[in-house]
Amino acid sequence: MANRAGGCLCGAVRYELSGRAQMDLSCYCRDCQYVSGGGPAHAIVMLSKDVSITQGEPNEYWTVSAKGRRVTRVFCDKCGTPLFARNEKLPQYLAVKVGSLDDPTVFEPQANIWTKSAQPWHHLDAAISRFKENPELGVAAILEFLRSSAVKLGRLFGKRRGTGASGEARDKGSGPGQAAGE
Ligand SMILES: [Zn+2]
Ligand SMILES: [Zn+2]
Repeated sequence: MANRAGGCLCGAVRYELSGRAQMDLSCYCRDCQYVSGGGPAHAIVMLSKDVSITQGEPNEYWTVSAKGRRVTRVFCDKCGTPLFARNEKLPQYLAVKVGSLDDPTVFEPQANIWTKSAQPWHHLDAAISRFKENPELGVAAILEFLRSSAVKLGRLFGKRRGTGASGEARDKGSGPGQAAGE
């Protein structure tokens, strides 16, 4: 089977992927909304060494993330297609924008990150893990979280005692139920 490949809309930049995707995620941070045209950035996270540009020279633009890290976005400067993103703290990973893949159907979203910046009209799948920001350790921590089947999002089933209110009403003799009973 051929390596997965992708490129930009105009065809000036082409790349190939080898190895496995480390994680599929959607980033709802405000910066990604600019770059995507209003949506999240859908990306498959690859090991940087598994991504090779086979044609063209994409341009780069970096911003400083809310965590103070330099995030570089790589795009075609002819047609503007977003191609990759990388975080200076995690140079071993490269996020490949799903829209640039020849076959975007391979995307299987596993995590939504920076959901605190999501717009009210974004629809987030409740079945997919959400992170308000990046976990403290970034992508590596999300990977660990997703791999660990022992980690469940436990809910606290706080048992509320339902006797207080009715007992109080009876004592006071002022509840509507009480009046009807008498
Ligand atoms: Zn292009
Ligand atoms: Zn983002």
